[in-house]
Amino acid sequence: MKNCEYQQIDPGALGTSNTRTSTTLPCGRKNSQRPRRKWEVFPGKNRFFCDGRIMMGRQCGVLPLTIGLILITSGLFFTFDCPFLVHHLTVFIPVIGGVLFVFVIITLLQTSFTDPGILPRALPDEAVDIERQIDNSGSSTYRPPPRTKEILINDQVVKLKYCFTCKMFRPPRTSHCSLCDNCVERFDHHCPWVGNCVGKRNYRFFYAFIVSLSFLTSFIFGCVITHLTLRSQGVNGIIQAIQDSPASIAELVICFFSIWSILGLSGFHTYLVASNLTTNEDIKGSWSSKRGEESGNPYTYNNIFTNCCVVLCGPMPPSLIDRRGFLPPDDAPQTVTSDTELPPFMSKNDANMEENCQEFANSCTA
Ligand SMILES: [Zn+2]
Ligand SMILES: [Zn+2]
Repeated sequence: MKNCEYQQIDPGALGTSNTRTSTTLPCGRKNSQRPRRKWEVFPGKNRFFCDGRIMMGRQCGVLPLTIGLILITSGLFFTFDCPFLVHHLTVFIPVIGGVLFVFVIITLLQTSFTDPGILPRALPDEAVDIERQIDNSGSSTYRPPPRTKEILINDQVVKLKYCFTCKMFRPPRTSHCSLCDNCVERFDHHCPWVGNCVGKRNYRFFYAFIVSLSFLTSFIFGCVITHLTLRSQGVNGIIQAIQDSPASIAELVICFFSIWSILGLSGFHTYLVASNLTTNEDIKGSWSSKRGEESGNPYTYNNIFTNCCVVLCGPMPPSLIDRRGFLPPDDAPQTVTSDTELPPFMSKNDANMEENCQEFANSCTA
């Protein structure tokens, strides 16, 4: 009931005083001090739509191009190739194409509009606490490199770097996306084609998107070639076929130039999934042998099937940015969820951070 009471300043009664009167308005009544949601003051460079229900990266300019290319190519295929192929071959061609097309669009939108696994920034008092720990961590005999922590994962030393923007030590596999200005868990890469980071929470959608797009592109490519081949069996050959179906040539050109990169990307990500790696780790060569040291990927289960299951079918972690939640009444300009939702290494009282990281490492390798 308390939350339903709005207190309104009465200008006539108050003068210059900022004391609040006890005028009570019913719930839902418009007020200049309407409760604000956390997405409205979100510190990262993300865009929010539908009152925070939909989020994506700021640089989403290429996403309409991606959707446009898929819509145009598929539209031309269904309009100009399918009627001929249904008549001469089978009705299953548009059915298979339609299923693939719907799957591609759904997984694309899921990748673009899902929180990739953004970690909320530290609250001011948490940041002060971490700073104090860093200051106290130096000793006269051994001083670790400034603002890094070392933890053991699967008997392998993993360095945790301090994020100056988010004011915390990044958990393992977390990286700060400079375009979105957020730390993202299991950061893979920022994909301009989908207009979002690809990370812990949307990697499975991204993988499903590129694999299904590979199938759709190959399917359309094969069907268009079949269409033109069947048409060119007439008297006037291929010239007549092209004149009869000029849209097929446009589809062939789009498919021909995109299929190689899409197939290559799918193959590369299949290798990453099978070895439980991220693009970020692969590009940086995080787990390649350095200076003669043996340093394999500590996250792999040494089994392709287990790696695929963990990466693609593991439980979906909850979003840590409570973007639809309301700001507290004192209007603190920060977005942090309740303690229960924070990962172990981000607990409010972070005096035992190293211990927590070790626990996390054990849970990763269990
Ligand atoms: Zn960060
Ligand atoms: Zn990003």
